[in-house]
Amino acid sequence: MGSKRGMFLSALARSIEGGAAPCPMCGKGNLRLRYVADPMSRVGYLDAWCDNCFKGVHVSRASVPDGMRFTPFGDCGEGDVPNCTTVN
Ligand SMILES: [Zn+2]
Repeated sequence: MGSKRGMFLSALARSIEGGAAPCPMCGKGNLRLRYVADPMSRVGYLDAWCDNCFKGVHVSRASVPDGMRFTPFGDCGEGDVPNCTTVN
């Protein structure tokens, strides 16, 4: 509710539904996201960040939506997600 994290998460939801959304923090970048999940249950976690200001959020439990690409557990490299400032 009015928190920056809340704003970020609602922009993220729009991005997931609509394919793209501008960053709510800087208004310039696009939100990038990466799901890491179990291939069978498609439950895992989600990292999302802005490719301009590198602010982001980590969602510790998330289901991968139908049709969304994801990285299986154990397959993700350290460099896949840039160093981001966490939005609180
Ligand atoms: Zn941004």
